[in-house]
Order: sequence, then structure tokens, then C-alpha cells
Amino acid sequence: MAANSTSHSQAEAAPGILQIFRLDGRTAVVTGAGRGLGLSMAAALAQAGTQIAIFDVNLADAEEAASSIASKGGKAIAAKIDVTDAQQVQQGIKMAIDAFGGMDILVNNAGITSRSPFEDLEEEDWERVLKVNMGGTYQCSRQAARYWIDADKSGSIINIASISGFVGNRGGLNSHYCATKGGVVALTRSLAVEWAPHSIRVNAIAPGYFATPMTDRLKNINRAFYDELVGRVPLGRFGSPPDLAGAVIYLASDASIYVTGHVLVIDGGYTAW
Ligand code: NAD
Repeated sequence: MAANSTSHSQAEAAPGILQIFRLDGRTAVVTGAGRGLGLSMAAALAQAGTQIAIFDVNLADAEEAASSIASKGGKAIAAKIDVTDAQQVQQGIKMAIDAFGGMDILVNNAGITSRSPFEDLEEEDWERVLKVNMGGTYQCSRQAARYWIDADKSGSIINIASISGFVGNRGGLNSHYCATKGGVVALTRSLAVEWAPHSIRVNAIAPGYFATPMTDRLKNINRAFYDELVGRVPLGRFGSPPDLAGAVIYLASDASIYVTGHVLVIDGGYTAW
């Protein structure tokens, strides 16, 4: 009888467990969400109940992304924000807070890359990629944290790193990009420790190869190499942007309340061998 009543109460509790993944009434800023992985993660967060502020240097894409989220019943606003510009980031965060009454989640997704043998890499390219991938993470994270610390609120930061932060990108000719992603991994761990006393959690997602405009370029440059990379993924395909949905909701929500400083690799097994 005792055993039966235990399993009965567990069965009753089961549907409630999914509530810890809900994000109703929370606000997320997602950078570089006009397209690609950022757009897909923003759409997933919106479906879980989050109000979304889309920051992108490409305003037309940002507005289209916001409309597509709104057309599915979500709440989203868009702004032309360059994440490397301190003033624009400040204005963007203020806009999100004013529009939605606060901010709870920051997804540092905006990122760029370029290709060059490292020995020929122009200083301008080195600086540009560092400025967006690491500099943008710096600008947005510190300004979000300043808001949370001053308001005595908790927050969740999700940095989009890459498996390129862990392994050499064979044939990628983008060691400068890999350096920035390694930097994002280190920053994730360090800020998690530094801001833990303020209840600000800092985690990262490290995607493997995903099918987006960023990797489509590779397909056009060298189709044979693209096919070889796909062949190296144990799950047999490049990721599709919605494959990150579960991870971003997990890290944004109370489901990961005791998780900070973690880097979640999502690569179809690419780095497992
Ligand atoms: P993408 O090029 O399709 O999208 C990037 C978005 O960021 C674009 O909308 C672009 O306009 C925006 N952006 C660029 N510079 C910006 C700036 N200074 N300020 C604001 N917005 C800016 O790229 P993606 O493939 O969707 O990649 C998104 C993130 O995921 C990047 O950080 C990338 O490094 C990372 N990533 C991608 C892959 C992949 O296979 N696609 C793998 C690992 C990591």
C-alpha cells in the first residue's frame, strides 16, 4: 500500500517537472538573432514563454526575425545593435528592459569568422573577429551584469562558443576564430565564478558544425571538404539549428538552477573520437 501510494504521488508529480523548463514572463536578449542559430534559439525561447529582444547589425533580418516570432504568438522586438559598440549595447539593453519590464537572460550569439592561413592573416581580420566574438561578449555581459547587480536580480548568460574552442579546426583556416572561441570558454568559467555571489549563472553552448549561412559558405568554397566534415560526424549529419533548442531552454531556465561555468558541447559526437 505504501509502495503504491509512493508511485501514485510520483506519477502525479511527473507533469509538474516540465514546469522548471518554462520561461513565462522572462525576457531574453539574443544577439545576432536576425538569422542562423541565434534566430532558432530566440524562437525556441519565445515558445517557452520568453519575451525576446533581438539585437543584430542587420536591421532588416532582425525585424523579419521578430515578425516571424510574433506570427507564432511570441513577443519580440528588434533593434539594430552592433555588439562591439558600448553605447549601442547600453541603449539596446535599456530598450529591452523598458519594453518588457526587466531582463533575465542574455544569449551572446553574434559571431563572425573569416578564412586565411594564419601566416598570412591580416591584422585587420584578426582584430575584427576578436572584436565581435570576444569584444561583443564582453560588452553585453558586463552591461547585463551591471543591471542585475544594481537591481539585485538573478540572471542567466549563455555564451555561444564552439567546438573550435577545444579542437583544431582542420582545414578551416580560421585559427583566429578558434582563439576567440577558446577565449569565450575561459570567460564563461571565470565569470561563472566571479558572478556566482550575485546569482548570475554563466554557461556556454559549444556547437559543432551546423547548417547555417556561416557553414554554407564553406560548402560553396570546397564541396569535397564539406562532405568530408559531414562524414566525420558520428551522427552522420551537420546539426540543424533547432537541435540547440533544448540546450538553450535548459540553460536559460530553472532546470539548470545549480549549473554554472558549464560548456555544453552539441556536435553529433564530432569531438567524442
Ligand atoms: P550567421 O552568420 O548565420 O549569423 C550571425 C548573425 O550575427 C548574423 O545575423 C549577423 O548579422 C550577426 N552579427 C554579426 N556581427 C554582429 C555584430 N557586431 N553585432 C550584432 N550582430 C552581429 O552565424 P551562425 O552560424 O548562426 O553562428 C551563430 C553563432 O554560433 C556564432 O557565434 C558562431 O561562431 C557560433 N557557431 C556556429 C557554428 C556553425 O556551424 N554555424 C558552429 C559553432 C559555433
